[in-house]
Amino acid sequence: MITRLPTYKDFEDVSKQCLTQAFNLLYKVYDEYDEYDDEVIRAEVSLEQIWTHNSGTIRTSLILLHQGIETYMKSAICKTTPLLLIEKTRADWPTLPSRADKEFDSLYTISGEALLTTFCAVSEKKISNEFIEFIETVRQKRNEAIHGANNVSIKAKELLDHIFNAYTYCFGKDAWFLETRSFNYENPLFGYFDWDIEYAVAYKHLDFALDILGKKKLNKYLSTDILGRAYFCPECKRTIDGDYGYLESKWAFLKPNKPDSTNIHCINCDAEFNVIRKDCVEDKCKGNVIHDYDCEETCLTCFEYQENE
Ligand SMILES: [Zn+2]
Ligand SMILES: [Zn+2]
Repeated sequence: MITRLPTYKDFEDVSKQCLTQAFNLLYKVYDEYDEYDDEVIRAEVSLEQIWTHNSGTIRTSLILLHQGIETYMKSAICKTTPLLLIEKTRADWPTLPSRADKEFDSLYTISGEALLTTFCAVSEKKISNEFIEFIETVRQKRNEAIHGANNVSIKAKELLDHIFNAYTYCFGKDAWFLETRSFNYENPLFGYFDWDIEYAVAYKHLDFALDILGKKKLNKYLSTDILGRAYFCPECKRTIDGDYGYLESKWAFLKPNKPDSTNIHCINCDAEFNVIRKDCVEDKCKGNVIHDYDCEETCLTCFEYQENE
C-alpha cells in the first residue's frame, strides 16, 4: 500500500506559502530601502542599486514562485487522486499485498512537462495557452537562476508581476494581498506592539505593489477597481496617524464607483463606511466625500475636519 496520501489542501497550503514568501522577500528589500526617508540618501542610492545588490534575493524569490506554481498544479491533480503524481512505473507500485508499504513522501513525484500535461488533463477549469506560456516563462527564468552562472536577468518589477499573476490565476483576485496580510496576522508575535496598528500596516504591501507595478497593472490583481479616485479610509488613517506616523496612502474607493455613491470600501481593512456627498469646506480641496465620525465630519480627500459655519 501507499500510505499517508496527501490531500489537495496539503499542496494548496504549501503553494500559498511559497508565493507568500516569494512576495515577502521582495517586499522586505523594498521596505528596508523605504525606511531611509531622506532625500540626500535617496539621491545617492537608487532603488535600482538596491535590487542589484539583492540579486540573490530575487533569485530565491523566483525559485519560490516556480515552486508555488508547481505545487498548485499538484494540488489540482490531487483533487482527482494523488496517485497521478507518482513517477514510478505502475508495475513497480508498492501496492500488491506481498510488497512492503511505502509512504507517499518517499516516492518520486512528477515534475516539469509530465506535471503540466497531467494538470491540463484533470483541471476543472479550461487551461488557456496564455497560462501555459506563463508557466514556461517562469520555468525558463528559474532554470537560468538555478543553473546559469550569469546574473539573473529578471527584474523585480517583472518578478512581482509574475508572482501576482500566479496568485491570481491559482487563487483569484485579491489573494496575494489577503494571503500576505494573514501571514503576518497569524504570526504568534502579532498584536504585542499594537493590535490595530499592526493590522492596518498591511497598507504598506499595497503601497509597495503600487509603487513597483503602477496602478494599471495592479488593478488586474484586485477585485476593487483602483483606477477611480482614491480616498482616505477613516479607520486606517486614524489608526496610523499619531504615534506611529502619518498615513499618506489612500486605499478606499467608492462602491459602486458612481458620482452619487454614498458608500466607501477600504481595500486595506476591508471595511465599508457610509459617506455624505457634499463639497469639502476647504478652499483648496475639491473633495466631495465626507465621513461622519461620531458627529465629527471629515473630508476623505484632505482629511480636514468640516467645521460648520
Ligand atoms: Zn481601512
Ligand atoms: Zn477636503
